[in-house]
Amino acid sequence: MKYDIVIVGGGTAGCACAYNSAKLGLKTLLIEKNAYLGGTMTSALVFPAMKTNVDENINFDFYELLMETLHDIGGQITYADGNIGWFNPELMKNTLHEILSNIGVDILLNSSVEKIVHNNNHINGLYINNKNIINTDTIYTNNINLSNKMLSEYIETTYLVDGTGDAKIFEKLNLKFLNNFENIFEKKYQPVNLRFIMSGINLKEFSDWIMELDSDRNVTTSYTIDGQIHLSTAYTWDKGMNWALTPLFKEGIAEGLITEEDSNYFQVFTIPKMPDSIGFNCPRIVKNTDPTDIDDINMAERIGKESISRLSKFFKLKFKGFKNAYVSKVADSIGIRVSNRIIGKYIYKIDDLRSGKKFDNPCVISNYPVDVHSNKEGKSVLEKQKVEYMLPVESLISADFDNLFAIGRCLSADFMSQAALRIIPSCFAMGEGLAKYLYKLSQNS
Ligand SMILES: Cc1cc2nc3c(=O)[nH]c(=O)nc-3n(C[C@H](O)[C@H](O)[C@H](O)COP(=O)(O)OP(=O)(O)OC[C@H]3O[C@@H](n4cnc5c(N)ncnc54)[C@H](O)[C@@H]3O)c2cc1C
Repeated sequence: MKYDIVIVGGGTAGCACAYNSAKLGLKTLLIEKNAYLGGTMTSALVFPAMKTNVDENINFDFYELLMETLHDIGGQITYADGNIGWFNPELMKNTLHEILSNIGVDILLNSSVEKIVHNNNHINGLYINNKNIINTDTIYTNNINLSNKMLSEYIETTYLVDGTGDAKIFEKLNLKFLNNFENIFEKKYQPVNLRFIMSGINLKEFSDWIMELDSDRNVTTSYTIDGQIHLSTAYTWDKGMNWALTPLFKEGIAEGLITEEDSNYFQVFTIPKMPDSIGFNCPRIVKNTDPTDIDDINMAERIGKESISRLSKFFKLKFKGFKNAYVSKVADSIGIRVSNRIIGKYIYKIDDLRSGKKFDNPCVISNYPVDVHSNKEGKSVLEKQKVEYMLPVESLISADFDNLFAIGRCLSADFMSQAALRIIPSCFAMGEGLAKYLYKLSQNS
């Protein structure tokens, strides 16, 4: 079996890369360890995609197509500020699968890479591993039928792309990471979140109450869009903002319903096609968590689940409209903002971003702020940018192998610039930009 391009990781950047590769006529295989696509957007329940305000977006074709397709089934709305990125994470799973299958991507779910075969600095192929498939006699993709007898299959590829978020392919090749050279812990990782959804909410009651409470409209907005109430509000333990919910969270702590740490970060968004539900961007785990360490992730899962129990009871008691509310979904995976970052041909730096440095081969143009979450009170940073910045495709190309690439949050960027580049639209643009670059490369070789 030979492919032009194999992408490992069917998440945010991986799906955009696979779609565009297949659209351009490259024979494309997408390998995903979960039973569905979407990565952080679906398994960690991260929505909506953040909005950027640039003169001209580049590599946004996949993002726009995805949102239009979701809109047709009610799974997307455009918020009042013009943000097209409000989507339903459950409907996202099948929509991604359909869009990618229809364009001709071979998708292998429940799979990962066992071994990578290379000569010096050139990748020849890889063995894929489907041992974690259970209750399935045959694995179907467009072109591959792997029976249970053939659990490990050799795949040749011209280009190998790591879209795993954590640079798992680079790790398998024992390559060094940027994060291993930055030794101040707070600067190495950001706190992780375990997101969840509550349903059974009377959204009208909640909206009226929270809009009244936050009457200066400091952080709360609410609109009726496509026949459904859509709203957002937030609270953090950081000072400086006039948080409408401060007295209520303080009350919850005083009454022993929640802990101080449970209250460190709270943000909510409604979900298209789920008129009695709200998605919570919390709890944010303040205990130091190294996202590359499985013990730390398991600890964060436990802390997060305990926190969700307390928070959901607190909301039911204190929030208007929550009398019949219940936790309907806890994310399948912890949400990781940053973990391994590769060493690429170009290491993108915060000064490149702040100065809006120009590059010959841009794959992302954005102005999204540098958004560094801290586990310490008052230490988070949201640094707005005065200029539009551009990311060069060279930050997605391995410095060590001539046909190895990485897309998404594990790109070759320093800690501060990654904190701006990791948002969903930029990850889509990285995937799409790399696909177009590899297509050109294939035409010239
Ligand atoms: C708590 C939190 C809140 C955020 N809020 C927002 C927000 O509001 N708006 C916004 O735009 N962005 C937000 N972000 C950022 C954004 O969601 C992520 O940075 C982005 O989705 C990451 O995309 P990715 O492609 O790098 O990784 P992912 O989307 O995580 O994709 C990686 C994929 O690789 C797969 N994988 C991993 N290892 C293997 C393996 N060995 N073999 C096969 N497959 C593998 C995973 O299962 C996954 O599907 C947030 C992030 C977090 C954590």
